[in-house]
Amino acid sequence: MEYEFKNVVCQNCKGKFTIEPEDFNFYEKIKVPPPTWCPTCRLIRRIACTNSWSLFYRNCDKCDKRTLSMYPPSQKITVFCQPCWWGDSWDGTEYAMDYDPNKPFLAQWKELSEKTPYTALETGYLTLKNCEYCNSIGYSKNCMLAIWADYCENVYFSSIMNEGKDIADSLLIFSSELCYESIWLHKSYRVFYSQECTACTAVWFSRNCYGCMNCVGCVNLRGSSYKIFNEQYSKEGYLKKLKELKFDTRSGIDKLKKESEIFWKKFPYRFYCGDSFNLNVTGEYIHKSKNSKEMYICGGAENCKWCQFITFKPVKDCMDYSGWGNNAELVYESFTAGLNISNSKFSGFCWSDVINT
Ligand SMILES: [Zn+2]
Ligand SMILES: [Zn+2]
Repeated sequence: MEYEFKNVVCQNCKGKFTIEPEDFNFYEKIKVPPPTWCPTCRLIRRIACTNSWSLFYRNCDKCDKRTLSMYPPSQKITVFCQPCWWGDSWDGTEYAMDYDPNKPFLAQWKELSEKTPYTALETGYLTLKNCEYCNSIGYSKNCMLAIWADYCENVYFSSIMNEGKDIADSLLIFSSELCYESIWLHKSYRVFYSQECTACTAVWFSRNCYGCMNCVGCVNLRGSSYKIFNEQYSKEGYLKKLKELKFDTRSGIDKLKKESEIFWKKFPYRFYCGDSFNLNVTGEYIHKSKNSKEMYICGGAENCKWCQFITFKPVKDCMDYSGWGNNAELVYESFTAGLNISNSKFSGFCWSDVINT
């Protein structure tokens, strides 16, 4: 069917938004009516369903032990700690209700969700080892305050990552190892105090570098080695200079941090944080994606719109997909879904394997 652009008033914020012909095709394909809320209100609505980062202590409603939880003690719901929730001592079907076709569906759904236990933390508990103080995490071991992370090992105080090993105090790290205080790294090794670096090794205080090795305080370089503040050194000269910079002292680190931040500002910033593998995309923190609009933190997306926090590739033909799944296709309105996701509509937590939910 041929569709035209349609301007719509959001039923929530009363602002105007546009439904494009390609959007109508998507809604028709997954058999849902076009939205009555604008993309921003829809995003707020889904994110309100989760809380990965602000954690509280409360007592488990089953074993009474103190546990870390996404829900504050003041929230009057039943919350089970991870061992209890994943254990065999209870059965979700105990809470089953008969569906009454004469009552509104959502009212019945609310009643069911209020009496059913919640998991204190949203993790793939059975795939974790020694990760008690982490949330939104799976397939990882020996991590501490690692949040929104998968396939990680020895990761501390870091967030939004996939395949990170020996990482601390970092954000948005993918397939990288031995990195510290860095943001938005891909396939990098021994990168420190740096941002937007891909395929870099032994790089310090650098921004937007690709394929660089042994560089300090560099900006917008490709395939460089032995450079300090973008200036070329011989290998011997570089090693000599490194000793003078005193990386092994706090004062040396603090001084370089300040100098590099001043140096970074002398060079142009790309208009968004993404890489040259992208094709026809809009948004921020986008990696290896194409024909996708209004994306925020995603990799490997194709024909997607309004998706966020996508740490698994690939993602195809999804809208309003905020979260989690491997090989996601035709997902609509999720906040997290499941690892071997197929199609999902209107989800809120829903793991591990999800098919046509
Ligand atoms: Zn709105
Ligand atoms: Zn418990």
